[in-house]
Amino acid sequence: MVFQMKKILLFFLAMTTVMMANPKDYTILISFDGFRWDYVHRDLTPNIARMAREGVSASSLEPVFPSKTFPNHLSIVTGMYPENHGIIMNSFSDPATGETYRLGDSVSVRDPKWYIAEAIWETAERNGVRTASYFWPGSELNGPRRPYYRELYDHERPYGERIDGILKWLQLPEAERPRFLTLYFHETDSRGHRYGPDSPEVNRGIAMLDSLLGVLVDGLGKIGMLEQTNIILTSDHGMTNVGLDRIIDVSQVIRTEDFTFTGYGPVMMIAPKPGTSEAIYKALKSGENHYKVYWRDEMPPRFHFSNHPFISEIILIADMGWTLLDPVIKERLSKRPGAGNHGYDNHHLDMHGIFFAMGPAFKKGYRTGTVRNIDIYPLLCRMMGIVPRANIDGSLERIGFVLKEE
Ligand code: AMP
Ligand code: ZN
Ligand code: ZN
Repeated sequence: MVFQMKKILLFFLAMTTVMMANPKDYTILISFDGFRWDYVHRDLTPNIARMAREGVSASSLEPVFPSKTFPNHLSIVTGMYPENHGIIMNSFSDPATGETYRLGDSVSVRDPKWYIAEAIWETAERNGVRTASYFWPGSELNGPRRPYYRELYDHERPYGERIDGILKWLQLPEAERPRFLTLYFHETDSRGHRYGPDSPEVNRGIAMLDSLLGVLVDGLGKIGMLEQTNIILTSDHGMTNVGLDRIIDVSQVIRTEDFTFTGYGPVMMIAPKPGTSEAIYKALKSGENHYKVYWRDEMPPRFHFSNHPFISEIILIADMGWTLLDPVIKERLSKRPGAGNHGYDNHHLDMHGIFFAMGPAFKKGYRTGTVRNIDIYPLLCRMMGIVPRANIDGSLERIGFVLKEE
């Protein structure tokens, strides 16, 4: 009886959701990789400023830990922390099988077995909403768990072509037209690594991406789709200054033959060989300088980074701006240390990205504080009138107020 009532209640809840969204609307989710929250305060971004005026702006977007590209793009589209969606770093391996997942290795990024959470395009397709992706980490899976239309990642693909691709999809006959689309640009991330977040080169990247946003909005206007299209502009993380003067060499305190490791730069996971764990932990702890060392099971809960079999026993997090040297190939200073990096503590403001949104679903001129990227998945579900997966980490409660109807 109670079960029946609960079922009826759930049904009505689902129906309200469905009725509140306008099924005719379209949504484009954009990522400007590595676009830090404060880049919009440099007087270089008139098109983002327009989004803020006509829609919603958040003071920043909090990424998940580690503040890296793949874990965060997956959190945005699944509403889950990396320990729950499974893409815990840009590259990692399964200690049980030795198999490796690596950004840039098209075989592994297309293998569905690594992706243990449902992405928004799966939820949408399951509910009869057609989807498309002009690039997004996790959008290339072999088999059915992918956007209906999608482009395989090509770093060199001209930005203009990506926008044209989106506009083309939106001009398909209505029955074939996707209602949810993603779009990705790497410019601010690449320039941020190479020249640092405060460089003139990054400023040029900021201006370039802003004008591309303008091209997209104009294009939507020209094809008569602007009024019915929601645009959500996000970034996966920020960027902070790094340099050769702030290097940590853990091989000074632990012997490289005693462990294997995953990652370097801002975060490193250490898997001690049998019988060496305590000694390694103790040595790292006593040498703790400009980094923090944690047992996996003692990671501060706010990181949500312990409950997955691919997370190693010991985790090192460098202080902001410091670089953990690759202990084996020491010259590999975090892909040449460059001038900027990310991956650090996701609560530090330098790691925060952006959240702007405009379109028929959103309030106008509404400014809010920091929002979390795990909450975007339930927001998208609400906008599309579909029921999100149960047990996600994100919450509509924390973000739904940006919608007109809330
Ligand atoms: P990161 O090492 O975290 O700075 O990663 C940024 C890089 O991820 C970018 O320069 C892109 O080349 C790469 N990237 C972004 N999206 C994808 C994708 N869908 N597939 C493969 N690589 C990607
Ligand atoms: Zn990134
Ligand atoms: Zn990057």
